[in-house]
Amino acid sequence: MTDGPGTADSEALATLHRVFGYEAFRGEQGEIIEHVAAGGDAVVLMPTGGGKSLCYQIPALVRPGTGVVVSPLIALMQDQVDALRALGVRAGFVNSTQDFDERRMVEAEFLAGELDLLYLAPERLRLEGTLDLLSRGKISVFAIDEAHCVSQWGHDFRPDYLALSLLGERWPDVPRIALTATATHATHQEITQRLHLPTARHFVASFDRPNIQYRIVPKADPRKQLLAFLREEHAGDAGIVYCLSRNSVERTAEFLTANGIDAVPYHAGLDAGTRATHQSRFLREDGLVVVATIAFGMGIDKPDVRFVAHLDLPKSIEGYYQETGRAGRDGLPSTAWMAYGLNDVIQQRKLIQSGESDEAFRRRASAHLDSMLALCETARCRRGQLLAYFGQDPDAAACGNCDTCLTPPETWDGTVAAQKVLSTVVRLQRERGQKFGAVQIIDILLGKRTAKVIQFDHDQLSVFGIGADLSEGEWRGAIRQLLAQGLLAVEGEYGTLVLTEASGTVLRQEREVPLRKEPKKPAASRSRSGG
Ligand code: ADP
Ligand code: ZN
Repeated sequence: MTDGPGTADSEALATLHRVFGYEAFRGEQGEIIEHVAAGGDAVVLMPTGGGKSLCYQIPALVRPGTGVVVSPLIALMQDQVDALRALGVRAGFVNSTQDFDERRMVEAEFLAGELDLLYLAPERLRLEGTLDLLSRGKISVFAIDEAHCVSQWGHDFRPDYLALSLLGERWPDVPRIALTATATHATHQEITQRLHLPTARHFVASFDRPNIQYRIVPKADPRKQLLAFLREEHAGDAGIVYCLSRNSVERTAEFLTANGIDAVPYHAGLDAGTRATHQSRFLREDGLVVVATIAFGMGIDKPDVRFVAHLDLPKSIEGYYQETGRAGRDGLPSTAWMAYGLNDVIQQRKLIQSGESDEAFRRRASAHLDSMLALCETARCRRGQLLAYFGQDPDAAACGNCDTCLTPPETWDGTVAAQKVLSTVVRLQRERGQKFGAVQIIDILLGKRTAKVIQFDHDQLSVFGIGADLSEGEWRGAIRQLLAQGLLAVEGEYGTLVLTEASGTVLRQEREVPLRKEPKKPAASRSRSGG
């Protein structure tokens, strides 16, 4: 038996050496483990790859009883348990994928005190049978993984998590540790409140991932840009390419394969067998590229993912951070690359409006998107902006390892250009009661007599041709940035452009509109940008 903190500490360290074969604790692991092993509650905010699992696995091993791990990642439980068993840890899981006999066996092991760790999906804790089972065994610690799922304001809310507050009521003497890689102040507070952890100690690790290079390039021909990026910088590397739709996942995977890159698709529309095969190939093979919707990746522990590419804009910074965080868990240089363009903004704004959700949800989704857009359009260090979003001060003003640090974007005074765009929208909307999308607005500005321009007499407008000084790409860039800054809005299923309250300040010359210059060519590769 151990009593002093010194001995508990060394028991934890001994377990780290003996069971996991690691030299030393990383970051705050040691302190967290000591605190929980001594019976304290904890809230742990640590980036993906930071080493959250040991924070509950070791307390479960050094305390008497079974550590109960609540995790929404049913698909990974088998893998997690297999990995632990390979280390000699007595682990099991109970979830809906098992048949009756398998479940009975795990339950019997638990009751006999023969399990160190038991993994459960949150929905199981709604069943009285599960709670009854747990009360008949001995529990050493409750670990609530992916704890941000309790946050209704977050991007990954799961109603079953709300019921987890009962754990503290039913088992007041069992320490609880909530863990997440999502770290906004709001999420942090919600976790503490909703899981009833008022006396928990809080451990907030730095969210900086210095080995990840962040880059966001203007979208021109995204698949070709992606191919060039892979060939120039990540030939033969394992990585994940995220797309918004299943269709675009399929087509991108086909495109990469046709161009000699070893790529497989992954999305919820594929049958379970194919998904499992593609996932396990990704985990076990070298240099496979998975093209996926965001259905892929949660909880995947592959240390040598060298890049994460986004062909579509994520819905929030939390999502972006979590997805890009799957790169470079081994600490070696990795790239988070994203192609982003006008259509992304229009599409996401449309999605938010056309959904059947309530006003509060729409406001929340808009706020999430606005922060994501601000990151895309910033002329500041991307890492600095990311960390600031998570309420952390970056160490230095500029990281030197993101595109805006490596090739600082030029800005230009876009006030007159903005006035031209907005005036065109005014002419159509106020004078004619018409609403058009970005393509028509740009054709009018450029003075193009397209069939649609002639059909609506738009060549008769006073603004026709007033934008001939800029290229089509520059106009797309300007409109994208006006949308991102809230100086212009999108409406309806056709993505028509309309004014916002803030538009007036530009039209009345009350403010200036600095814009990022659009690079003539898609962004420089690493070799070119280094100099
Ligand atoms: P998270 O859950 O925070 O994303 P994991 O717990 O999966 O991170 O850990 C990420 C990787 O780091 C795993 O491969 C894990 O084995 C390894 N790891 C964790 N802690 C240590 C340590 N103290 N020393 C060496 N490797 C560690
Ligand atoms: Zn930077």
